[in-house]
Amino acid sequence: MTGVYESLGVRTIINAKGPSTRLSGGLMRPEVAAAIAEASRACVDIAELQAAAGRAIAEATGAEAGLVTSGAAAALLLGTAAALTGLDPARMARLPDTTGFANEVVVARSQRNQYDHAVRAAGARLVEVGLPDRVSGAGVRDAESWEYAAAIGERTAAVLYVAQGEARPALAEVARVAHAARVPVIVDAAAQLPPAVNLRRFIAEGADLVAYSGGKAIGGPQASGILCGRRDLVMAAALQMLDMDVVFAQWSPPPSLIDKARLVGAPPHGIGRPCKAGKEEIVGLVAALRLFLAEGDAARTRRWRGLATDLVAALRGLNGASVSLRDAGVDGSVPMVELALAPDAPMTALALATALQDGEPSIHVDPHRLDAGVVLFGPTCLEPDAPALIGRRVHALFRTA
Ligand SMILES: *Cc1c(COP(=O)(O)O)cnc(C)c1O
Repeated sequence: MTGVYESLGVRTIINAKGPSTRLSGGLMRPEVAAAIAEASRACVDIAELQAAAGRAIAEATGAEAGLVTSGAAAALLLGTAAALTGLDPARMARLPDTTGFANEVVVARSQRNQYDHAVRAAGARLVEVGLPDRVSGAGVRDAESWEYAAAIGERTAAVLYVAQGEARPALAEVARVAHAARVPVIVDAAAQLPPAVNLRRFIAEGADLVAYSGGKAIGGPQASGILCGRRDLVMAAALQMLDMDVVFAQWSPPPSLIDKARLVGAPPHGIGRPCKAGKEEIVGLVAALRLFLAEGDAARTRRWRGLATDLVAALRGLNGASVSLRDAGVDGSVPMVELALAPDAPMTALALATALQDGEPSIHVDPHRLDAGVVLFGPTCLEPDAPALIGRRVHALFRTA
């Protein structure tokens, strides 16, 4: 327990899963926390700050423009809103009501997931394509480019593409089909970092907008995210998030973010108003992004591998369980510790995970493979003393089970 949490009567936990919203994200570097504290002590024009962050994001991603949001889900909502309205303030005022204009977002059925609620929240209707029977083992196919082409029509506002290793067809192919119909592609790349090259990859492959989480591997504030991409779309997104309590004649937004000359008037507060990022999130995200790039993939993996190796050592010698290190993550650069429980182990994987969570301090593991008898531990949110503590607890639970 530490000060602020103690004063609220809230326990701190050991996060042996990885950055996760329900476990309060990850840990922030002291340099990021210091930047946030400093930012909190002065006021600025928020649009100017967003424009400056946008330049840093553009440099890191190769995109024309960028915006700090309250998360990747917020970025998806804002990106969808931008695709729905363009720069039309009347449409911005109407969302999520899309009566009278194109509101369909085409997505591969295999890429549907619970985060696409953010896309629907903007007012879009999802149109699914493809039958992913390769996933069920009954066949070899997923969505194909001709299926995207057939689904795109007058009513199409955007294509949503959820970037992950298994996604088919390739983004470049989907972008080609979408662009032939002048439809933008919005990429959910929330958890696609590291590797750092993925900051540039999706824009390079043809994405018009890309959403990243700021609170996952980047190490920014838990409630931060990035939307980057085409300048006109980022401008439309900014207009629907920023405070629009402005007198149009007096209003002089930074032209790199909002080109006032392209607007017939100022829209009212938009659908993205609840996605707002404060100066603390904006400054924290930019500081974290710079550190993420400066550290580099190799040093970051070494740091995580050190913690994972300590944890493997601490989990050795358990009867009925074998421990190993395995590579995970987008490019294998996130080491995970795998504790496989044999049938003669004193407890099941589910019972062990539950007991760890119910103990003091509470230890949260990755539940993905519990039903296969495997407890997974992620090192990315562990303090240096955590591996030994986790090892002692697991050994004690095995002895007393
Ligand atoms: C984590 C995640 C999100 C949500 O990101 P937030 O930054 O928490 O809003 C969206 N999509 C995918 C695929 C994710 O993994």
